[in-house]
Amino acid sequence: MAKIFQATHVGKVRYNNEDSLIVIEPETYAVADGMGGASAGEVASQMLVETVKNFLAKSNKPWDEKILAQAILLANDKILNTARRHEEYHGMGTTATVLSLDNGKAYFAHVGDSRLYLLRKNIFQQMTEDHSYVETLVRRGELTAEEARVHPMKNVLTQAVGAVTNLYIDMGNFSVEQGDVFLLCTDGLTNMVANELIVKILQTADNPAEALVDAALNAGGRDNVSVIVAGVD
Ligand code: CA
Repeated sequence: MAKIFQATHVGKVRYNNEDSLIVIEPETYAVADGMGGASAGEVASQMLVETVKNFLAKSNKPWDEKILAQAILLANDKILNTARRHEEYHGMGTTATVLSLDNGKAYFAHVGDSRLYLLRKNIFQQMTEDHSYVETLVRRGELTAEEARVHPMKNVLTQAVGAVTNLYIDMGNFSVEQGDVFLLCTDGLTNMVANELIVKILQTADNPAEALVDAALNAGGRDNVSVIVAGVD
């Protein structure tokens, strides 16, 4: 059984919290970072987590990466259709990072620039790839990871759930080990807090989710920030 912590905060600059997060079952989680005018970002990220939850409730376990991807594709259709019917929602979209642990395996599916990390012993590894303009430049060798973190176009996504008809979903699975710590987060954490501090908090804080949100706020809190931490005993 995993030990779970979750926290979300609007931050110090924005007026709305467009992030959504959900613990669907003790070992299945999702975070979503919505975008769009007015309240559209909140609508998109909330539709994502609700659609994933409802789709999984009707699916047989294990909820492997293909099932998680189907759930995201269904959310893509729903968000696109809602945006078509309501002018105020035109252009809305959301990231999606979904993780399901089952019987010693971790399954994930992902779109956008929210992230799944694994802390195993002292190795902190990003398991998802960002679907962003700057990440494309990093992969092409035109930017370093540190240059990407502070790049003026770092918020430009190459795709988002609900914003494109042909969605590419990053997905995978791997074996879980005792002591593994999983972190799902929106970019309001990773743009504000360096990896070294994230690792230190994951290893030492009584409530790592609250402590990570506090660290993002202390660093300026320029964006909404959402965090789910799951530790495997
Ligand atoms: Ca964000």
